[in-house]
Amino acid sequence: MAEDQPYPPGARRAKRPAAALPCADCGDLLGRGYPACSSCADAVDALWRPDWQALLAAEGVEPGAEGERELAERVLADEVGRHPWTCTDWALALLTCGQCGSELGAGPLGCVRCTIADTNRWAWDHLGHPGAMTGNEHALRVCRAVLRAPHRQRPTIVQSWQLTMPFLLVGELTTTGQAQRIRAHVLAGRYADLAECASYAAMAGLPELPWRRTS
Ligand SMILES: [Zn+2]
Ligand SMILES: [Zn+2]
Repeated sequence: MAEDQPYPPGARRAKRPAAALPCADCGDLLGRGYPACSSCADAVDALWRPDWQALLAAEGVEPGAEGERELAERVLADEVGRHPWTCTDWALALLTCGQCGSELGAGPLGCVRCTIADTNRWAWDHLGHPGAMTGNEHALRVCRAVLRAPHRQRPTIVQSWQLTMPFLLVGELTTTGQAQRIRAHVLAGRYADLAECASYAAMAGLPELPWRRTS
């Protein structure tokens, strides 16, 4: 990967799972237990980690050493689009917010420093999409950020993304219309029905319950 290529893509070094299958640890579809279930966390972070490791290698930085933290600070201070978006996310997770003490960008909604850090990360998507980032990759990025800081969102939003993660991992495409239908089902208390679906399209196409029909 050329060092000076603007908006280098992210999450493309690891192979995606071929199908959304149950996690051996938590039993939900793989990815849905992110980040509490370690197997789900590994499956999701497997798309992010290799980009960060490549950056460490390119910079000659030892993982786990103080230099890694410094590199994370440098990545966030660099111009948007200098590094893959996955590296921005990884850098945020490596740093602690000086204001609230949480993972940077993942603290309570009232923390200004976290809100600024979280807002800034999306500049990559605004400027790099669609050329350097697919819709699936953008959705994956949002999904992981929401699941790492669920207290920053309404519960129905969090549940919708939890349901969606396994299908994003295998590369399914999503539309705003589908997301809205899934959210409406979550709002209607149908998480369990949605969790049984074998694809994103099936969740979005879940028939409405007869007594909820208004037309
Ligand atoms: Zn799991
Ligand atoms: Zn904070």
